[in-house]
Amino acid sequence: MSRIAYVNGMYVPHHEACVHIEDRGYQFADGVYEVFALHQGKLVGEKGHMERLAHSLAELRIDWPVSRRALAVIIAQVARRNHVRDGLVYLQITRGVARRDHSFPEDSESALVLTARRAPPLDKEALRQGVDVITIPDIRWKRHDIKSVSLLPNILGKQQAREAGAYEAWMVNDDAMVTEGTSSNAWIVTKDGALVTHNASHAILNGITRLSVLEAAAEAGLGFEERPFSVDEAMQAKEAFVTSSTSHVKAVTKIDGQSVGNGHVGELTSRLLDLYVDFIEAKGGPQNTGAWN
Ligand code: PMP
Repeated sequence: MSRIAYVNGMYVPHHEACVHIEDRGYQFADGVYEVFALHQGKLVGEKGHMERLAHSLAELRIDWPVSRRALAVIIAQVARRNHVRDGLVYLQITRGVARRDHSFPEDSESALVLTARRAPPLDKEALRQGVDVITIPDIRWKRHDIKSVSLLPNILGKQQAREAGAYEAWMVNDDAMVTEGTSSNAWIVTKDGALVTHNASHAILNGITRLSVLEAAAEAGLGFEERPFSVDEAMQAKEAFVTSSTSHVKAVTKIDGQSVGNGHVGELTSRLLDLYVDFIEAKGGPQNTGAWN
């Protein structure tokens, strides 16, 4: 089956899809993106993704390329035309095509590109196999709440993780606090049993999966703390995990080569995975959205 992409108003074969060489996304990383997970044929957290996209666009003063309602139709179409039941839809909006000049062009039109691909259905057993993370300095700019396509530090960090045999790299700011992973949010269960993840601020991307897990935890009567945690605290934690639309709730059993807790997937992590899956199947995604920075 050939894949279909959406490029500026047209559905085209994936291998023929292309954009202009003077697209500002290509030249300046002057654009934003979203990655939507599809679970059992349904988009996960569509409302949250759309709101976060609105935030990213507004912060960068990039116009919507089409109305929000039209965009929702295109997202569904791209998923359908690629026969994706479980997988991902990637969406990118840039400031458009213009003669190369740093300042905003006066007359460019936002460019819109979408692709979709299948992924294996969410597999709880696989997610419960713990992975390693490494810690690296957070060398990014200061607006991580904006889902910008400018991802060089994230790419370099992820590559460093891969070369170290790890799944993810946790980025650490100048105060020795973990902000987030290169493409996921970071969580620990402290030695005293507190569930902790960084608060929503300019320092992290407020993950849609993160929001679902927080809501699922609250519904189950579990407490949590939204605050930064240090590398030291993580090293002494009982449990750790990462969340994202692609990793769902994935157990972390080693940080910088050192076992987390007893080295096995944590009890709370395992429970939160179940709660998360039940939550997205029942609710479709987070309801308490809106805190994008
Ligand atoms: N932080 C960063 C830096 C990310 O790239 C991602 C993945 N988009 C996340 C967190 C997790 O966000 P989400 O749960 O919305 O996929």
